[in-house]
Amino acid sequence: MAHLIKRFATPSKPELVVTYGSLDADVQELLLSAFTVRLRAYAPYSNFKVGATFRGKARGEIFSGCNVENSCFSPSSCAERTALTKAISEGEREFLAGAVVAYQPDVFTTPCGVCRQFIREFTSDNDMPIYVAQAREGRTAETPFANEDPVLCTSIFNLLPNSFHTYQI
Ligand SMILES: [Zn+2]
Repeated sequence: MAHLIKRFATPSKPELVVTYGSLDADVQELLLSAFTVRLRAYAPYSNFKVGATFRGKARGEIFSGCNVENSCFSPSSCAERTALTKAISEGEREFLAGAVVAYQPDVFTTPCGVCRQFIREFTSDNDMPIYVAQAREGRTAETPFANEDPVLCTSIFNLLPNSFHTYQI
């Protein structure tokens, strides 16, 4: 019966915390874009602002999104889904990496459960790295990160093991 789980995706990347300064330039660029788009978050109810970005595979283009709240709450969209919906509507369906920037003291803000499943839809069987950084108080678009800032390097399969996925299409 072990064959029933052999198609499950397994994490291919370790989960690490590294410094911003040690990251490759393309990852820094992804995080910088997430920081910038976070400034556009529409979060009048929670005041919890999030920015997310994904790098498309076809042209290396960065798609970015912020959270968009609603007074009814249910129609609200997280930053990750905003970014991916923009990308899909622009014709991109494969992604190389994602980034999430938000701020809570002493903890990284990782994607919510709904967004993890939404991201999983567009990762096929290839694990995708997700980089998570804090938008610390007082930081601006001119100086969003310092080289010593911590960044969580994880992946969608680390964040959502044994996820739902249809193998019929
Ligand atoms: Zn979410």
